[in-house]
Parts: sequence; structure tokens; C-alpha cells
Amino acid sequence: MADDTILKSVGRGGTNLPADVSLVQRLLLARGFAKPDDVDGICGKNTIDAIVDFQKGFLRKPDGRVDPGGTSWTHLSGTYSGIATEPPPAAVATGSITRTVPRPAASSINIGLKSVNNSLMLQLIGDPRGGSYSNTCQPPTLPKLRRNTVLDSIGPFRVTGLVPAVLSLKAVMIDIQAEQPEVYRALGTAGMLCCRWVRGSTTSISNHSWGTAIDLTLNGILDIYGNDQVQVGLTAIAPIFNRHGWFWGAAFRTEDGMHFEASQRLVEDWAPQLL
Ligand SMILES: [Zn+2]
Repeated sequence: MADDTILKSVGRGGTNLPADVSLVQRLLLARGFAKPDDVDGICGKNTIDAIVDFQKGFLRKPDGRVDPGGTSWTHLSGTYSGIATEPPPAAVATGSITRTVPRPAASSINIGLKSVNNSLMLQLIGDPRGGSYSNTCQPPTLPKLRRNTVLDSIGPFRVTGLVPAVLSLKAVMIDIQAEQPEVYRALGTAGMLCCRWVRGSTTSISNHSWGTAIDLTLNGILDIYGNDQVQVGLTAIAPIFNRHGWFWGAAFRTEDGMHFEASQRLVEDWAPQLL
């Protein structure tokens, strides 16, 4: 995919060559901004809306158009800042999986993705525990959340989380198994659904409270919170999570390398599907 490029502009007012449109649609799909049915080589309203949504992550005034070599193209193709998110890094060898490296620059990860703040989560899904939180895990009391929560295997282990989030993680894990088999074998979890405050806070609700975030371990080892270092294995799988629309916590103000959460776009897509 890294060798592919568009020849002419795509989107609102663009030339919209079918091959270009199809490539942009596939990249939007890979980043969670389009649905499989949208990939048809025809630039209609869905495609323009998806481009605009994608541009909101980095443009103040989205124009719905992707020009060859332009800002939107570099973000979409993963060549922004010269750091490619496609293709993912070479497969990591067993011995270096839990070695730590400085966390990547925030501008080089989570491209086109936004984390979700509490007010939007409360608006889209509701308050998991009616405001009653502490620093330890408690179950949700919100009926809507309880109805839409599932315990299921996502491949290497079982998790309890929001149904669409668990389904999405299954797709993430299939890709990790294919592209980073050694990391896949090392994967474990330190939890998904867990209603509590954000660590160190008594006012911010953790996104784990909605079952849309997951903490990972590698060979049973937790990445140390807030030390600005991340395990090599996490750097190898972060691009895979990113292209499925999951935001990596390594970019948080206080580094949280073991944490991945559904981006704003995913939660906005899922909320209307909840029963
Ligand atoms: Zn977490």
C-alpha cells in the first residue's frame, strides 16, 4: 500500500479517477472512516463525508478533498512527518518484545484519530455508574451498558467489553497474528471493562468504564505507566490498532503505553447500534 499513490484529486470538486477514489476509500476503510460497502470507486456523499470526518482530526476547515501530495494525502497514506504507518514495522523477534524504548512522538502515532472525552461518552452512551466511582474496578449499573456488554474470546484471551469493541478487537487480533506473530503469542490483558476514575484523578472517568478500552501485557509484563518508555512489542502493534480506529495511550499527557481505546469515530459509529 505504501507504493500506491493517487494521480489526481479525490473528493469534493476533485477529478475523481475511479482508481484514485477506490484507493482513498480503502485507506479510509483501513482507518475506520468508511464501511466496506463504501469502497466502490465512485466518489459520492458517503466518501466526501468520510474524507471530511477524517480531516477533522488535523484540519480546522475540512474541505472534503484529498490532493496528491497534499496534507490530507500524507495523513491518509501514513507518510505524514515522513513516518509511515503503512506498512507496519517488520515483525518483532521474541527477545526484544518487552525491551523498552522512548515513546514515539505524539505526531507520529494515532494519525487521524481522536481520543474520546468524558462529555461525549456520557452523551453518546450514558453514565456507567451514575457518578459513583472510585480508584478500583466496579461493575456498570447503567442498564444500556449491561445489555451491550459481552465476555468473549478475541483470540489470545477472553475479555469483557462493549459488544462492538470486542468485535473490533477480534479483527485487530487477526491482523496482529498475521503481521506480528511473536507479539501475538506474548499478548495478555490487564483488563477491559472496569468502572473507575482515570488513574490519579477523582474527576475524570476512565474509558475502561464503558468497556471501550483495553490494557495489554506482553509475556505477563505490564508497561510501566508514565515513564515515557514503551515496550517494543507495543510499538509494533500500535499501527495495527490505529488502522482499526483504536487510539494508543502512549500519546496521552501521562504516557499509558499498555492502553488502547476506541477512538471518537468508532464510538460515534457504535453508539447508535447499541440495543
Ligand atoms: Zn487502560
